[in-house]
Amino acid sequence: MSSVAQQLINWHKHHGRHHLPWQKSQDPYAIWLSEIMLQQTQVNTVIPYYQRFMQEFPTIRRLALAPLDSVLALWSGLGYYSRARNLHQAAHILVRDYQGQFPDTRETIQQLPGIGRSTAAAIAVFAFQKREAILDGNVKRILARYFSIRGYPGNTSIQNQLWQKAEELLPDNHCHGEMEIYTQALMDLGATVCTRSKPSCTLCPLRQGCSAHAENTVDQLPTPKTRKLLPCKDAIFLILMQHHKILLQKRPAHGIWGALWCFPEVEIGVNTNHYCQQQWGISIGSSRTLPALNHQFTHFKLRIHPQMLHVISSTLDVCNQFIWIDPIEALEHAIPVPVRTLLKQNVLSHNDKLRSAELSL
Ligand code: SF4
Repeated sequence: MSSVAQQLINWHKHHGRHHLPWQKSQDPYAIWLSEIMLQQTQVNTVIPYYQRFMQEFPTIRRLALAPLDSVLALWSGLGYYSRARNLHQAAHILVRDYQGQFPDTRETIQQLPGIGRSTAAAIAVFAFQKREAILDGNVKRILARYFSIRGYPGNTSIQNQLWQKAEELLPDNHCHGEMEIYTQALMDLGATVCTRSKPSCTLCPLRQGCSAHAENTVDQLPTPKTRKLLPCKDAIFLILMQHHKILLQKRPAHGIWGALWCFPEVEIGVNTNHYCQQQWGISIGSSRTLPALNHQFTHFKLRIHPQMLHVISSTLDVCNQFIWIDPIEALEHAIPVPVRTLLKQNVLSHNDKLRSAELSL
């Protein structure tokens, strides 16, 4: 076994994380769910979501049978909603093609929507005790530093070098749970010791062999992506209020915030009162512009200009594209973060004021 693997396995015994809820399980479904939730999300944020999700959808079949809306609602606040849509779609495929069972090889798992090579490998290791290398963001960082591999890890050639190193370090013998302990140790080292900023090299079991530590280049590795200035888009969000309810519109299934409930969005420059009348037969009384709100996606920044509009009358035919809903109830729906923020900051307090004004009349 490579000395790195041995050092990590020894380290994990006393310093690794042993009490994460999904570690109690060898159920590939539970492992899959945790791995997907942990992408781009901290453990502490994931735990309550994971527990609620497992309670609501304890099996692949239950997840496949659930409406997408309920799945997205449980995911609401965790971000990167394509993960939830892919989970749901993959559950359908597992029920349809695999009798609700998870395939047990990395190659087959990797065919499912939303599962890349590293996630497939983690599932294969933890659920089926396979000998497979993982290469998530944490592992890329450890390997880039340990072997002093320069270049942005997202570049194919750098990524190939990192995969090769990840393969070389694997324990030879995958009996006695060594692969699981080794894989978990790598994840834990990246999350708790070899962190993005201020890594704790003095506590690291790998420091004697670590090139970046020896060369004093830890803070330069991994090489960051060359920053491109993100384009900025502007949009108006219409907060239409009628009898203490707001109007939400379901977004198209594909694209930004796919299938989530959102305030109707219009382009800058549109005459909103006229638009509401023309499009939906909604007559507006008073209106108010609220402070703008910024939201960043991976490829662009969105500057949201919310407008609160008081509805006098509406002939809008609500169907599965629109709902008039109490703002408190809306918080339980699958809504994007800026909608949640606007509801909490503006709509709920506004409704409270209106209600107390009505009571005092
Ligand atoms: S010695 Fe420091 S940089 Fe090297 S692997 Fe350990 S924590 Fe990371």
